Amino acid sequence: MRDAIVIGGGHNGLVCAFYLARAGLKVTVLERRAVVGGAAVTEEFHPGFRNSVAAYTVSLLNPRVIRDMDLAGHGLRIVERPLSNFLPLGDDGYLKVGAGRTASEVARFSQRDAARLDAYHAHLDSAADLLRELVLETPPNRVEGGWLAALPELLKAGRLGNRARKLSLSSQRELLDLFTKSAGDYLDGWFESAPIKAAYGFDSVVGNFASPYTPGSAYVLLHHVFGEVNGRKGAWGHAIGGMGAITQAMAKAVQALGVEIRTDCAVAEVLLARGRATGVVTARGERLDARVVVSNLNPRLLYTQLVDPGALPGDFLRRMQAWRCGSGTFRMNVALSELPDFTCLPGRTAAEHHGSGIVIAPSLQYMERAYMDARTLGWSRAPIVEMLIPSTLDASLAPPGQHVASLFCQHVAPELPNGASWDNHREEVADLMIDTVDRHAPNFRRAVLGRQIMSPLDLERTFGLVGGDIFHGALGLDQLFSARPMLGHADYRGPIAGLYTCGSGTHPGGGVTGAPGHNAAREILRDVRPRRAARGGHVENHHPRL
Ligand SMILES: Cc1cc2nc3c(=O)[nH]c(=O)nc-3n(C[C@H](O)[C@H](O)[C@H](O)COP(=O)(O)OP(=O)(O)OC[C@H]3O[C@@H](n4cnc5c(N)ncnc54)[C@H](O)[C@@H]3O)c2cc1C
Repeated sequence: MRDAIVIGGGHNGLVCAFYLARAGLKVTVLERRAVVGGAAVTEEFHPGFRNSVAAYTVSLLNPRVIRDMDLAGHGLRIVERPLSNFLPLGDDGYLKVGAGRTASEVARFSQRDAARLDAYHAHLDSAADLLRELVLETPPNRVEGGWLAALPELLKAGRLGNRARKLSLSSQRELLDLFTKSAGDYLDGWFESAPIKAAYGFDSVVGNFASPYTPGSAYVLLHHVFGEVNGRKGAWGHAIGGMGAITQAMAKAVQALGVEIRTDCAVAEVLLARGRATGVVTARGERLDARVVVSNLNPRLLYTQLVDPGALPGDFLRRMQAWRCGSGTFRMNVALSELPDFTCLPGRTAAEHHGSGIVIAPSLQYMERAYMDARTLGWSRAPIVEMLIPSTLDASLAPPGQHVASLFCQHVAPELPNGASWDNHREEVADLMIDTVDRHAPNFRRAVLGRQIMSPLDLERTFGLVGGDIFHGALGLDQLFSARPMLGHADYRGPIAGLYTCGSGTHPGGGVTGAPGHNAAREILRDVRPRRAARGGHVENHHPRL
């Protein structure tokens, strides 16, 4: 019998399978789609044009995971963007944000803001450093039972408290701000000019169906800066071959350890016997047994669709049904005959701004309006669009002289008002997104040769992302750290013995990080010893500390 079944071959499922197999467990990964990788995949969306069809840029992928899985040895190469961001600002010109550039750019709008940039980054970095230290740790978990059961968790909480105490008072204040305030209030406290607040505030609405002035949105901003590219903290980059290059390298790493991957194999049900998970039944009716079952799915999807509700405590089920999902994200990929020619910075030959994250959202107020529109009307009439043109960095994605662009658009309502369906509004909203870019680069609409459109409903249907939630659950204080996915279950174990969660709905949350998969494997290995070890084999050699 196999030791572990992983439901879902997203990147976290693959990472978890890797660590389990490396420790000597016999593992099978079951993926519903024809390809593994979940939301981190590269596909041909128009003849001759390939792109990262959902997740599109890399930073959060944990360096330890990259190293342990030898992703570089399995073909992964990540390059930095020449410039972090470019914001076309209409009559106000543009703002470029990038290493060594930002201060002089910001000074054109405010000398005072330019002078404050270093202090801002120092404060943000110290908070991000703490987050970096925590991503590969299991959060302190609230446990039932006597002091003996609670002791390890108390120690963990104590260690965490110690770490926080070592921060200076000023850093602790900053941390409090970042965990509780809105991004808008936080940025207003630092800067006075709109463009730099927009450039930084954009991170707070990424995948977060909220205004930048919604309390708690500052954390979402922080969540997007704890990564790095090739050792450069906070940078974002491009995986050559697209995000699928990451997950294909992961697939090679797990297969090299003997993990079986089955694609086109949806799981319909988790099998239970005497209150324990014992295997799964696939949509085709095949029964597969295992000592443990690990889910890479949004926890709401797992517990409301694949597990017998009668086997779950009532309060747990009620909370899972109410798990907050929905990102406000609309995703497009477009094939382009030529590069966009921006009115504020003309030119159709590749320049550094074409290789950056191009953010169409000139101010926090614009973003707030976008949210208000989407709440009341279903989608923002003046949406926020981030455009990346990865073919400027990677010739493998488009025919020579032509390009592919990712359009990552907010805000749209996960569910449209008055019972309207995304199936009837997808094309109309896609046109709006194209027109939004066209207003700043008037050759854009006519350069579009083909387009792929994913509304929140399409993201749910294609990738199993409930409400199109790109993080498997909102990154609010109520759904983070010891509360992800619920107080008492932050240790990757659910209420059913032998059933674990390893996806983005667990700590540290969404993004292509590999961290939930890594952490879940460590917890599973505490419960499940490789059988060869039980027979006196030498599994220790394959079981380094995680
Ligand atoms: C549009 C979009 C843009 C994003 N942009 C970025 C970005 O640029 N950078 C970044 O770091 N992050 C980004 N993210 C977030 C990131 O992609 C996700 O947080 C991450 O991919 C989640 O990984 P995961 O392995 O936890 O789950 P997933 O990638 O969701 O994988 C879960 C897997 O389970 C499979 N599955 C579902 N149901 C079943 C079933 N019943 N049986 C078997 N298999 C099943 C799914 O098909 C999927 O393959 C983006 C996400 C989206 C959707």
